[in-house]
Amino acid sequence: MPPVPTLSYSSYRTYLECPQRWKYLYIERRPELPRGYFTFGRVVHSVLETLVRPLVVPLARRVSAQDTQRTLDEWPEPTAAPPTGSWMAADDLLALYDRTWSGEGYSSPEEEARYRALGRDLLLRYHEHLSRERPRPVSVEEHLEARWDGIPVHGYVDRIDRTPSGGLEVVDYKTSRELSGEDAKDSDQLSLYQVLVESNYAEPVERLTLYHLRSLTPLRARPRAKSTLERLHDRLGTVSDGIRAGAFEPTPGRFCARCDFQSICPEFRSVPPVEETRLQELVDRFERLRESERQLEQDLKFTAEALHRAAEELGIHRVPGSRSVAVRRREETWQYSLDAVRPLLERAGLDARLGSGSQEEIRSLVRDRTIDPEIRRRIAEVATRRIRWYWELDADRGAA
Ligand code: SF4
Repeated sequence: MPPVPTLSYSSYRTYLECPQRWKYLYIERRPELPRGYFTFGRVVHSVLETLVRPLVVPLARRVSAQDTQRTLDEWPEPTAAPPTGSWMAADDLLALYDRTWSGEGYSSPEEEARYRALGRDLLLRYHEHLSRERPRPVSVEEHLEARWDGIPVHGYVDRIDRTPSGGLEVVDYKTSRELSGEDAKDSDQLSLYQVLVESNYAEPVERLTLYHLRSLTPLRARPRAKSTLERLHDRLGTVSDGIRAGAFEPTPGRFCARCDFQSICPEFRSVPPVEETRLQELVDRFERLRESERQLEQDLKFTAEALHRAAEELGIHRVPGSRSVAVRRREETWQYSLDAVRPLLERAGLDARLGSGSQEEIRSLVRDRTIDPEIRRRIAEVATRRIRWYWELDADRGAA
């Protein structure tokens, strides 16, 4: 089995969106086309990093790690950073912005000009805001790593601030148009950053913040509860297992529209001309067989139902044919409603045992003798019974 991969938030999210795309990006290292809005985000982040870095007063880290403070991935350093400890003037900020600007990926000069003007406006307003209300950062663009219950994770955290009560606030800048308080509450990215910061710093994380730069609005959420983090850990585990098992099936959907790999993706590649006729015949044959199969299934269902009705009217379970006997069988299964089982386990502090919440998993909890019999009895009580009747053929016992 390959080693456990180190997951970042974007790697995790890419795998969830489409494992095949993850493979193109993270194993085959295929480059993607530049896009204006990504370039814009990187430029603004890079300028903000240089602007805020002089304010950083580092805290002692929980673990000894080599100096991991770095600029954004592979982004060129601005040529003239301000001296440490100084606060950059607005003109210098704009000059830095102009030096850092890149026109990569914009669809037209007009689009680039629009974004460039937006960036100037946004940075000037944020600069003015910070001049009045200085943050107390302990790090900017810090690369943090952790081993989260067996899963290696890492990420670049835009900013970590000290809160008035001495805790920490994780700040992630967003240049996107729309953002809501719900985004901050639901963000898996912030959850992962909480884990990274708590693994590396002694102080507790007190706030998780998405900073909406266009409106200068911090969208704050409380730190995640243990159960929320455990659910994220389970999802990361599923992604990690999938990667290790080499599960890279394409999952076409809404993400295909902005995927650069359509021309090589099995979901979109065309049949080579030399194979067209042969494969067309196979598809036509497959279609005919499918239709026969559908008719056969309908016939089978209709006949089985007629036999069930007769069996119930006559009170019989064995019906001889000319070559075999049809024997009526009963199958009983118990179905658990996850909505009913989860609160029971949460009250007993056992919700972490639930994992994916599959029927088999719940059944194994009911059988698990390490769990209080009273809790197992309550879980069993919320199950509903399903009965299915079906026919089997006994070939040796037909009518003479
Ligand atoms: S085109 Fe769609 S299915 Fe294919 S790799 Fe891209 S996202 Fe996945």
